[in-house]
Amino acid sequence: MNATTQIQATLPTIGIIFGTMAILAIVEAVVPLHSRKRWGRTRLGPNLALTVITILINLPLNVALTLALIWLDSIGFGLRQWLRIGPIGGVALAVLALDFAFYMAHVAMHKIALFWRFHRVHHTDPFVDVTTTIRQHPGEGLIRYLFVASTAIVTCASPLGFAVYRLWFVLNALLEHANLRVPTRIDTIASLMVSTPNMHKVHHSRNQRETDSNYGNIFSLFDRLFSTFTPSILGMRIEYGLDGHDAHEAQTTAGLLAMPFAKQGPSAVAVERPATARG
Ligand SMILES: [Zn+2]
Ligand SMILES: [Zn+2]
Repeated sequence: MNATTQIQATLPTIGIIFGTMAILAIVEAVVPLHSRKRWGRTRLGPNLALTVITILINLPLNVALTLALIWLDSIGFGLRQWLRIGPIGGVALAVLALDFAFYMAHVAMHKIALFWRFHRVHHTDPFVDVTTTIRQHPGEGLIRYLFVASTAIVTCASPLGFAVYRLWFVLNALLEHANLRVPTRIDTIASLMVSTPNMHKVHHSRNQRETDSNYGNIFSLFDRLFSTFTPSILGMRIEYGLDGHDAHEAQTTAGLLAMPFAKQGPSAVAVERPATARG
């Protein structure tokens, strides 16, 4: 299978992403968690612009990784091959290992000051809805790719496992960010297994103690295992955003793309959120 065939195979995923965003936007209008208030539609343009940029960058990266995994599979390299894990076990191993890689990448983006400069673009959204999901700086995509690609190669994630992980990852991420009211009891029960909408809302808090928790994307397992879990019920009353980044100039597409490289003034100590202070 060559690169062109792989790109063609990936295109339906892009349709699924935008289709799911449209469906969730309708659900958000019917059962919203919070009112948008003054943030209205001003975030829509920058959020969608960053979404398109991220998807365009991720496409060739994911195609390259898939081709590498197909080749590794053909030469019998990697943990999956050495342990003689079958096709279904291979998918399960890939999803679990890659979700752990994402968890590690996410923690690193909060703990390492250089990485945080890129990741904070996602956290500066003053409101959280389905358009926040892929509001990322392209630099964040590259950092995350380093973690996911190295894990995929070492475990020799099966190409099918990698495809299942990517789809599950993006669908759950869209659901987690959607501004929809999920009954607390359902969300709490679901959070025993998976990362839920109310759980991830906690991660978008302006309160750093709450931000420094609930890093997981698919499974809640790693947050529970490494004591970074905050009960999802708190997600109902979160104040979103990042102090010091609410100015209009910072919230434009150009402002968000320039944000990692912006010089921090003396008043920006709280804005920078030093890695040492992040618990
Ligand atoms: Zn984060
Ligand atoms: Zn988020």
